[in-house]
Amino acid sequence: MTRDTEIPLSDERWLSLRTRLTQDGSALVVVSDITAMKHAELSLRQLAEQMRDLAETDGLTGLANRRAFDEILTSECANAQRTGAPLSLLMIDVDRFKSYNDTYGHPAGDVCLREVGECLAAIARRPGDLAARYGGEEFAIVLPATDRAAAIGLAETFRAALHQRARVHASSEFNVVTASIGVSTLEPGVQIWSMEELIESADGALYQAKKNGRNRVEAARFAARPGRLKQT
Ligand code: GH3
Ligand code: MG
Ligand code: MG
Repeated sequence: MTRDTEIPLSDERWLSLRTRLTQDGSALVVVSDITAMKHAELSLRQLAEQMRDLAETDGLTGLANRRAFDEILTSECANAQRTGAPLSLLMIDVDRFKSYNDTYGHPAGDVCLREVGECLAAIARRPGDLAARYGGEEFAIVLPATDRAAAIGLAETFRAALHQRARVHASSEFNVVTASIGVSTLEPGVQIWSMEELIESADGALYQAKKNGRNRVEAARFAARPGRLKQT
């Protein structure tokens, strides 16, 4: 019988102990220094983790990217249906951002998007919350186990925080950078067939927020469309 054991030492070296029991009842132990191999293995693992993080992160804001958002929203929809917990989604769009770029230039626009990202990260604080850059100047936050009232409260906190940062935007009706937010909540007991339904619903609320004057929060009444076939 042969047994292999890897032992980390306090000075960062690693030893391998290969123990073999012989027929006469004695044991043969071969000790080897496997430090180089272990260090290579650990740095490969770290590299793989970094690559995975990069593949899921938006380079400009450091928030989750669209790919990570799609993945998380799909799994949170399934979770919510299974556990019966509410699930809220916020869709956020920066107001008059085209004219911000036109007035202050694209690099300043990028700085502005980073600031919006900071304000969003500040409200997505529970372990399951996910703030993401949905695309361009649009963002989204997935809020598991968060009901409609709590989601509206968080959206309002973000809206007010961004407004209070007071980043000058001379061609906006508010004179500072603002954002509009659409909220939708998948309530317990409501059947949903795909995450797109929740996105469409929050998007509809966002459209209302734009229509009603921007720099505001609107919440949709999420209604599942009955009789639909499951999408794959
Ligand atoms: P509304 O209030 O209706 O949302 O108007 P808007 O001007 O914000 O909307 P629109 O969709 O016309 O403009 C979005 C702008 O966002 C246009 C595009 O150039 C800019 N944009 C998208 N991605 C980026 C980016 O990564 N950096 C910068 N600086 N600008 C971006
Ligand atoms: Mg937009
Ligand atoms: Mg916009």
